[in-house]
Formats: sequence, C-alpha cells, structure tokens
Amino acid sequence: MTQEVEPDELLLRLRHFHSDYFPLHQQRFQDLVTQGQHPKTLFIGCSDSRLVPYLLTGAEPGELFIVRNVGAFVPPYDQSHGLHGTMAAIEFAVLSLKVERIVVCGHTHCGAIRVAYEGAPQEAIALKAWLRLAQDALLPVQPSPEALCRTEQRSVVLQLERLMDYPMVRREVEAGNLTLHGWHYVIEDGEIHIFDVQQGQFVPASEATSSGTGPYVPYVESDGHMLSY
Ligand SMILES: [Zn+2]
Repeated sequence: MTQEVEPDELLLRLRHFHSDYFPLHQQRFQDLVTQGQHPKTLFIGCSDSRLVPYLLTGAEPGELFIVRNVGAFVPPYDQSHGLHGTMAAIEFAVLSLKVERIVVCGHTHCGAIRVAYEGAPQEAIALKAWLRLAQDALLPVQPSPEALCRTEQRSVVLQLERLMDYPMVRREVEAGNLTLHGWHYVIEDGEIHIFDVQQGQFVPASEATSSGTGPYVPYVESDGHMLSY
C-alpha cells in the first residue's frame, strides 16, 4: 500500500496559482503569448528576497524585463565573449526589446554591500570577483549603518555610470529613446529614493519630480569625483 504523501508548501502554491489566480487573468497571459512581450522597462535589481519589483512598481505580467544579481551590479562592458548573463540581458533589452527605461535598484541592508566590506567566504570565488563591481563605491571608513546606506546609494550611481559604457545604452540615451533610473529602496520605510543627477542626491519618491535620474549631464559629486553621465 502506497503511503499518501503530503504535498509540500511550494507545490501547494503552484496549484493555488493555477487554480485561483490564473483563471482570473487568463486573457492577459494569452494576449502576452499571441502578441509577444513588449516590456518598456529593464529592471536590474538585487537578488535580495525583500525587494519585490512587481509590488513596488505596481507592474503586471509583461511589463518588466528583469535581471537580478547579487548587489544589482552592472559588469563592465567587455568584448571578451565571456559568459556575462547581466550583460546579455542588457543587450537583449535595449537592442531587441527596445526598452524605454533601465532601472538599477539597490536597497537598504544589502548583504552584497556589507560583504564587499567584510569579505566573502574563501570558497566563494565567483562572489569575491563579483563584489569587485562595488569596489569604487566603498568608503574608507568602518562600515557603520550610515556608511553602508551611503555605499548602497553610491553603488547604484556607479552601476549607472557603467551602463553608459555600453555602446547601445549610450546611443539610445543620447538619442532620447532611453532613460536611466537609479533607485535605492528603503525596505523599512517602503519607499524608493531616486537618484536626481541635478541635485546630486537621492530624493524620496514622495518628493521627487520624476522616477528618472536624467537629464544626461555631467555630474560632480561633492567630493569632486566626476561621474561620466
Ligand atoms: Zn542586496
């Protein structure tokens, strides 16, 4: 006699989606199949489980093209034909999907930024290399909560700067077809802070005039560091 196996939690959730959610939205999903996807936004976000892009932006299926990685980092544009998943996603979103905006979204209490200060486990060879993408955002201080928060924000700006090194991104930004959006999500407040390049700081969404970071002008940080976008 075979023993009845209790369905696990995740299996129950899959069944719930199919039986309860999907029937209510079936037409939308079928339209997305027949008409294809036409997302206007590439969302580059940290993998952190507390960052939920669809909740934050009120987006529906088909609206966000998402690439997530540890730290929401953008690797340098390089032509060495390596296996760069984030780079491939950026190329696909800009060249094929022709997205109109790219969001880079970091957040408070980011483990990637903390580990960038503290060092990753010796065995984590890919992680150690990957965290170098935040190196230029680190501050020469002990990582207090304030310093970590500031570093998270500096990292977002740094990744936007790297995005502008992608030829297709720069071309579309300069042509006015693409806007860049640097966001820092404050988990405990439930609010996105948006990098405003003119003010040179992150502004809460409740006070910001736009969700974007532009316009495309040179920006000099208060410490004199010149950002190239
Ligand atoms: Zn994170």
